Amino acid sequence: MSLALALDIGGTKMAGALVDDAGTILRSAARPTPAGADAEALFAVACGLVDAVADRDAAVVGVGCGGPMHSAGDAVSPVNIPGWRDFPLRSRLEVHTGLPTFVDNDAKALALGEGWLGHGRGVRDFAAMVVSTGVGGGIVLDGRLLDGADGNAGHIGHIIVEPAGRRCGCGAQGCLEAEASGTAIAAFTGRPAAEAPEEVRARTGLLVGRAVASLVALLDLRLVLVAGSVALGYGTTFFDAASAELRRSARIAHARGATIEPAGLGAEGPIVGAAAVGLRGIGVDVGVG
Ligand SMILES: [Zn+2]
Repeated sequence: MSLALALDIGGTKMAGALVDDAGTILRSAARPTPAGADAEALFAVACGLVDAVADRDAAVVGVGCGGPMHSAGDAVSPVNIPGWRDFPLRSRLEVHTGLPTFVDNDAKALALGEGWLGHGRGVRDFAAMVVSTGVGGGIVLDGRLLDGADGNAGHIGHIIVEPAGRRCGCGAQGCLEAEASGTAIAAFTGRPAAEAPEEVRARTGLLVGRAVASLVALLDLRLVLVAGSVALGYGTTFFDAASAELRRSARIAHARGATIEPAGLGAEGPIVGAAAVGLRGIGVDVGVG
């Protein structure tokens, strides 16, 4: 049996877990991501979590981290973690733990997790999305996780959904992330995203559905799985609006009938996905190539 030290790094929270090669979480810990912290203070939190769940039989470290990044996680610059710009996360963790370490985008990690043990199991073509503090995505096509030139394939948060919309952190205008992320919703409602009124919840679903309609037409997908505190927190209102917009906008024959559904692993998705990043890195079969 292979054990992975899994680390999920987001703009609001960092989580660590010891996960076996059946996807069972044996030990876990979480800390808030310190707002405004510098690179070393952030890394100290990540190391603290790894140390809290460490096991002498662990074979690998797997990390899901907010994007963008390049050089296989040796230069991470998460949009929602300003203290890390081109931070060498992979090599620093490898030195800290003495274990082989694999880093990938957090939404790509979620896609791996869903393909391994969630609702993407046995599905050769699907996308997974996170609608949370930010908006991310990962794509499995022909049974393989898409990487792209720098490993950033699937960044659906930067599809334009409102051409005259809000300015995005990336510099463009009207990106899905600038309209439907928890950060954006808090900015334009003036209160936490979890307290958004019904019409904002429905609009968030509609905009995600609009982006997904383009995605399924482009890539010949039938299934998009969505996780994240905003999507899951808004629940039926979000998914009904997203599904209605997807039906309205995805009309070409191969995209008709595509569905958008809650991801299968729920709150465990990101950390199980991070474990999958590590286990796949050392050759364990997680179902997705
Ligand atoms: Zn953007």
